[in-house]
Amino acid sequence: MTWAATILTLYPEMFPGPLGLSLAGKALAEGRWSLETVQIRDFATDRHRSVDDTPAGGGAGMVMRADVLAAALDSVPDGRPKLVMSPRGRPLDQALVRALAAGPGATILCGRFEGIDERLFEARPLVPVSVGDYVLSGGEPAALALLDACIRLLPGVMGAPSSGEEESFESGLLEYPHYTRPVEWEGRRIPEVLRSGDHAKIAAWRRQQAEAETRLRRPDLIERHGDARRPSPSGAQKKKKKKKDE
Ligand code: SAH
Repeated sequence: MTWAATILTLYPEMFPGPLGLSLAGKALAEGRWSLETVQIRDFATDRHRSVDDTPAGGGAGMVMRADVLAAALDSVPDGRPKLVMSPRGRPLDQALVRALAAGPGATILCGRFEGIDERLFEARPLVPVSVGDYVLSGGEPAALALLDACIRLLPGVMGAPSSGEEESFESGLLEYPHYTRPVEWEGRRIPEVLRSGDHAKIAAWRRQQAEAETRLRRPDLIERHGDARRPSPSGAQKKKKKKKDE
């Protein structure tokens, strides 16, 4: 079955945007995923087709109306997770991406302005998802990032199936560094081990590089994953343990 994305937005022209090109665009043309946009404004009920109003209690900006957004959401059939892009959401990570990609698709609500009337979250089952601790002007670029990450995991989208498995985060570690020809560039050579043809040695080197890189740049990932990504033979190992001994 086709992985189906429905985007609720005030700017449907932003889709598929970059996802109409390259791998995602090819997969879209091949019907490996489908895209539908819903113009939120079509669900406005007043003469001015307004989707927002001034914040209760005062303050800057405008707030998206719960009634209009609920009507837009209710127009989309159930059966797929309904997400709302929000800086207050669950941080998007590869585990969530994998879970979404394995499902039937996603309905994604993109916010604009100052935010969304809180009552919408009480009245409708929406999963808020954040793409990071910074503020975008709208949910659309966040939805594009989420979709891109899901689409590349869909069956048949990436050429070599193995290239998705060794990457950053799949193992709980950042990825090892890559090199390609020329062998020497600006006086820098490709590490000799990579040209040795010794696959075991290369794998060990990459593993060690990945661990060193992660320790340096993202110690939080080591903290979070501990040894969970490498269960002991007994499967019973729970406690955190330094990984230097491998
Ligand atoms: N006033 C809000 C920000 C609103 S930004 C606050 O301070 O939290 C407008 C819209 O952009 C949001 O409704 C959301 O849909 C989207 N957005 C902004 N930053 C985001 C992020 N980090 N992750 C996901 N969506 C984001």
